[in-house]
Amino acid sequence: MGKTEIQQDTYLVGVGVSPGIGIGRICLLNRLSHVLEWEISAAEIDTELARFRAALATAADQLHEVKQKVSNQEHLREHIYILDTHLLILEDQLLISQTEDLIRQNFNVESALDQALKKMRVMFEKIEDDYLRERSSDLDAVGQRIQRVLAGITDNRLEKLDEKSLVAAHDLSPADTMQLEKSKVVGFITDRGGRTSHTAILARSLGIPAVVGLESATAVVQNNLPAIVDGSTGVVILNPSEDTFKEYLKRKLAFEYLEKELCHYRDLAAETTDNVQVVLRANLELVSDVPGARQDGACGIGLYRTEFLYLNRETPPTEKEQFQAYSKIARSIAPDPVTIRTLDVGGDKFLKDFSLENEDNPAMGLRAVRFSLREIDLFKVQLRAILRASAFGQVRIMFPMISGVAEIRTCKRLLNCVKSELDAQGIAYDPEIKTGIMIETPAAVMIAPLLAPEVDFFSVGTNDLIQYCLAVDRGNEHVAYLYEPLHPAILRALKLVCDAAKETGTDVSICGEMAGEPMYLAVLIGLGLRELSMNHPCIPRVKRVLRELSCADAEKLVAKLMKFPTGKEVATCLDREMRRQLPDLFGTFVI
Ligand code: PEP
Ligand code: MG
Repeated sequence: MGKTEIQQDTYLVGVGVSPGIGIGRICLLNRLSHVLEWEISAAEIDTELARFRAALATAADQLHEVKQKVSNQEHLREHIYILDTHLLILEDQLLISQTEDLIRQNFNVESALDQALKKMRVMFEKIEDDYLRERSSDLDAVGQRIQRVLAGITDNRLEKLDEKSLVAAHDLSPADTMQLEKSKVVGFITDRGGRTSHTAILARSLGIPAVVGLESATAVVQNNLPAIVDGSTGVVILNPSEDTFKEYLKRKLAFEYLEKELCHYRDLAAETTDNVQVVLRANLELVSDVPGARQDGACGIGLYRTEFLYLNRETPPTEKEQFQAYSKIARSIAPDPVTIRTLDVGGDKFLKDFSLENEDNPAMGLRAVRFSLREIDLFKVQLRAILRASAFGQVRIMFPMISGVAEIRTCKRLLNCVKSELDAQGIAYDPEIKTGIMIETPAAVMIAPLLAPEVDFFSVGTNDLIQYCLAVDRGNEHVAYLYEPLHPAILRALKLVCDAAKETGTDVSICGEMAGEPMYLAVLIGLGLRELSMNHPCIPRVKRVLRELSCADAEKLVAKLMKFPTGKEVATCLDREMRRQLPDLFGTFVI
C-alpha cells in the first residue's frame, strides 16, 4: 500500500505508557506484513520440515545472543525472563506439532507456521484478563522472528539505529525493546499493546517515552519522518510544524528540568512546614521495581500486589518461587518494611483453571480474600511463603477486600495454623509479624472500630473504596464521570476510618491511587493520614508538595471541604486553595 504525504501536525492518540517527550525521526521497523502461501509436493515435505527445524534453531541462537548481551546490563537483567519465555515458545510442542502437521498436509512452512500461530492466538484472545491476553504479543514476536529467519532477513535494524530515532513498529516485542539503546532511541510507538504489556513495563524501566495501542500508526508513518511522542499524554504528532516543535521542545525541557529538580527531594525529609513527619512508601507489582522505588526515596513498600506473580502462567507459583520473590523484596528493602498483600484475583483478574470468569458480577463475587478462603490449599502455600520470607526483613501481611470480622478471624486462624506447621518443622519466621487489612469495602469503613482490635494496621484502598461506595465500576468508561475521589461520601468514609484508627490506636495508611496525586495531599494529611503508599515515580512530586504544606492549614482546609454537598464543589475549592497557597506548584507548573 503506497503512503501519501503526511500533513503537518498530524495527531495520533494512543495509550501513554512511559512518561516524557521524545523528538526525533521515525525509524520504521520492517516487519513481515504478509505470509506467502503455496502448496508443496509430497516429495518436498521432508525438506520443509527440515527448514522449519533449522529456523527454530536459528531463532533460538538469536535469542541466546540477545540474552548474552543484556545479561551484561544491570538494569535489564531482571527482564531476561521475557527472553526465556520466547525460548520456551520456540520449544512449544503444540506449536511445533501443529506446524509440522500442516506441512505434512502440503502447506509451505511459512503458511503452516502462520496458521498454527493464528490458532494459538485465538486461544489467547478468549482470555478475559488483560495481562494474560497481552501475552499473545509474545507469541507474535516469536512468530515474526521465525518468519524473518525463513525469509533470510538477518539485518537487525535495531542495532543500526541513528541518533534520535523514534522507533515505530506494529508490535515491538520485549526482546526488541531490550535492545533499544537509550542513547539513540528517543521514544517508541506501536500499533498494539496496552498498559500491562511487557513492552510497556520495559519502556518504563528504561525511561524511554512510549505510546502504544495506536492501532494503525505503522500504516501511516514513513522512515525519517520527523515526529514527537508524548508518553505522558499518549499523543504522537507526525510532521510537526515549527510552532508545535518549539512548543514540545519547551515541554520536553520543562519535563526534564522537573525530573532533575525532583531528584533533590530523594534524600530530603518528608515533612510539612510545621514539622509533621509523613512516611512515603511505594506500591509494587514487580520485584524488579524495588531499585526504582529506592531511587525515588521510598521508605519501604506499602503494598506489594502479589497477584502479578500468579498471572501469565499455567499453574500458580510454588511456595519456593513465592518465597524467593518475597524474601528478595524483604532483603532489598530492609531495614524498611514491605507489606505483602495476599492474592487479589477475581474482579478483573483471573487465574487459569479456577473458572471465575463466568461470574455474573465478578467485582462483587469470589474476589480477593474470598477466593483465598475458598482455595485454602493455595492460600496456605502463600501464607507459608510470606511467613518464611519474614525471617529476612521487615515483612507485614495484608488481606484484601475484607468485609467482616469473621473473614479476618478465619485468615488469622489459618495464619496461626501455618505458623504451627513451620514451628513443628523448625522453619524460621518472624513470630511478631504484623497483620493488617485493606479497607476498601463500605462495610469495612463502617465497622472499622470493630475490625481494629483484630489487626495491627489498616491500609485504605481508595481505588476499590470509591468503586464500591459510589457503585461505580472502576473500569467502565461510561460511568467514569461518577468516579469522584473527592465525593462527600468518600471524604466521610476516609474520615470515619482515620477517626476509628486514632481512637483505637491502629496504624492507618492509604495505598490507592489517590495517595500519589499531589492535589489530594492536603486532604489526606488534613484527615490525619501519616503514611502514604503510591507508584514510586509519584514519590518525589508528592514530597515536594508535602514540604510546602502546613498540617494545621490542611486540617482547616478539610473542615471547610467537608461542608460542600458535591464532589465538584469540593474539587473546585481544593483547586483554588492549592493555587492560592502554593502558586509555584499548582499555578503555572503542572505537577
Ligand atoms: C485499591 O483498591 O485501592 C488498591 C490499592 O488495590 P487494587 O488497586 O489492587 O485493587
Ligand atoms: Mg483494591
